Amino acid sequence: MQIIKKIDELRPIIKQWHREGLSVGLVPTMGYLHEGHKSLIDRAVAENDRVVVSDFVNPTQFGPNEDFESYPRDLGADAALCEAAGADIIFNPEADEMYDNALTFVDMNKITKVLCGKTRPIHFSGVCTVVSKLFNIVTPDKAYFGQKDAQQLCVIRKMVKDLNFDIEIVGCPIIREADGLAKSSRNTYLSADERKAALCLSRSLETGKKMIENGELSAAKVVDTIKAEIEKEPLAKIDYVEMVDLNNLETLETVQKPLLCAMAVYIGKTRLIDNFILE
Ligand code: AMP
Repeated sequence: MQIIKKIDELRPIIKQWHREGLSVGLVPTMGYLHEGHKSLIDRAVAENDRVVVSDFVNPTQFGPNEDFESYPRDLGADAALCEAAGADIIFNPEADEMYDNALTFVDMNKITKVLCGKTRPIHFSGVCTVVSKLFNIVTPDKAYFGQKDAQQLCVIRKMVKDLNFDIEIVGCPIIREADGLAKSSRNTYLSADERKAALCLSRSLETGKKMIENGELSAAKVVDTIKAEIEKEPLAKIDYVEMVDLNNLETLETVQKPLLCAMAVYIGKTRLIDNFILE
């Protein structure tokens, strides 16, 4: 496995793979890889002849008061995980290599302005821009994204359709710790008490899912019950809990599939996200 930092070094390798008729899978990440990322890499390795994992903490998707500087980084550990999983290349560029005084950004309306987009107004422009650039640099046949970031997955699918990228987007299920907490690079910020408090996300989502399984049809009742459960936890502060139509991310009044029930919750200073989808 190779670690490549320069676009001009990566391109000829990928061109050669395409000439040889080899399929290429891309797994975009911000590094500090865990079992969630590994599940995407495993799937990409199973479905493609060659796999590129991008490992880039993308500055343009962080707001001014967010955790870009403190975001955890460990290229050595990431390389070991990728090598063991059977990836061929880690693409780990510097910010200047990716942006080099760039003036062009990819923006999207509507579905980037709701849910996480309300609190993080520039986030999805940064995501769409970096993912477009990665698509153009790596020219993959398939790209792998986690349902953990469900809104991001919807946004990327829409971008691929709108901009006619000839790439198949593969969505992968959420990987959780044994006690239910969704795996995240940001879990490393949590103190022992916060780690326990963070279970209110997955626990309250389970409660909401059960209400729907038992026939509850009011989306507001489900959301209010989830919020009430989170509010019992003193270290938690809700950013949002919403139930939306999975196709357009518009708020649902009545429980109707396919739906996304998504939340962002601050545990202390750490903002965590989680969700469930019913299709
Ligand atoms: P990140 O490094 O946080 O930007 O995540 C890179 C990719 O890994 C995204 O497509 C995420 O949705 C996915 N991912 C992160 N955590 C998980 C998880 N717990 N389960 C499944 N996929 C995940």
